[in-house]
Amino acid sequence: MNFREYIRKVEPYVPGEQPQNSRVVKLNTNENPYPPSPEVLKAIEGVSLVSLKLYPDPDCTLLRHTLAAHFGVGDDQVFVGVGTDDVLATAFMTFFNSDRPILFPDISYAFYEVWANMLGIPFEKKPLTDDFRINADDYTGENGGIVFPNPNAPTSILEPVSFIEGILDRNRDSLVIIDEAYIDFGGESVIPLVNRYDNLLVTQTFSKSRSLAGMRIGFAVGSPELIGYMMSVRNSYNSYTMNRTALAAGVASVRDQEYFEKTRNAVIRTRQQAVLRLKEFGFSGPEPAGNFLFVTHEKMPAREIFTALKERGIYVRYFNKPRIGNYLRITVGTDEEMETLYEALGEILA
Ligand code: PMP
Repeated sequence: MNFREYIRKVEPYVPGEQPQNSRVVKLNTNENPYPPSPEVLKAIEGVSLVSLKLYPDPDCTLLRHTLAAHFGVGDDQVFVGVGTDDVLATAFMTFFNSDRPILFPDISYAFYEVWANMLGIPFEKKPLTDDFRINADDYTGENGGIVFPNPNAPTSILEPVSFIEGILDRNRDSLVIIDEAYIDFGGESVIPLVNRYDNLLVTQTFSKSRSLAGMRIGFAVGSPELIGYMMSVRNSYNSYTMNRTALAAGVASVRDQEYFEKTRNAVIRTRQQAVLRLKEFGFSGPEPAGNFLFVTHEKMPAREIFTALKERGIYVRYFNKPRIGNYLRITVGTDEEMETLYEALGEILA
């Protein structure tokens, strides 16, 4: 017997590159190109150094209350965590414990499979259609739960609320998690449905539309029953996941609605222009609803474009995977960053 036989060996999630060179035009990990609200900076400065000797509020009372008021739900309907990744991992641990497989799309956020493997949860990947849509008919019958992003990643395709409702109706006995990491860039959230569907958990993040990827804040909204179970699981492995600075930053961000709308709208405007510009270069792809575009080129293979862009200091995301190996995922940057991208594409595709 050797301890190595008993080590938990996992296939980890591989995040996009985080180059340390700040001159890189970074369009590879769907961050927001704009800084967070100035109110966030003030809030961080307002956290007294001496307060850091004390543990933070384990119930995250003020941030949960601020989010609850924002979405018109009860404080006991909100769970907060260290990014959606932490929130989703907690949800998987809490809700996906049956012998039946959980269901998610074959082309989706790669972390779902990683968590399922790590936690020993059986799963089935349901293929997207040829035009990368989620087929609602795949999400019926006995299952151990359902999870997918809306808009989906990396396709950026949005499904309407009625589509989600259809899946919820057909799965009254299963927990359905809708990962709304990118919903603020043009989609309608299903948070208002949580009081009608006791099997719905909606997650969102501060990493994208709120420009706070570095602060690590995510949250889930659901019934008080679901949130209560998640809190119990969280309190069984780490009661203090949210630090004082993150809690203060989160509250300030939610309160500055005007800044949120301004930067969100700027990203949407730049995205609309990007659709047209990329089309002129011979790219095509689904109508994007997130802060990123999913595109393929009529002539040049995606991998070659990816490499040529990288040589010019422009990072986009390339997935060496079946079905999407000829696509690029390009995060929407500032107008200036996008101009740099178009210039480079002009050279590469000339
Ligand atoms: N869900 C999806 C679909 C994502 O693309 C991401 C970002 N990588 C996340 C969740 C996690 O976001 P975060 O942990 O930064 O909140």
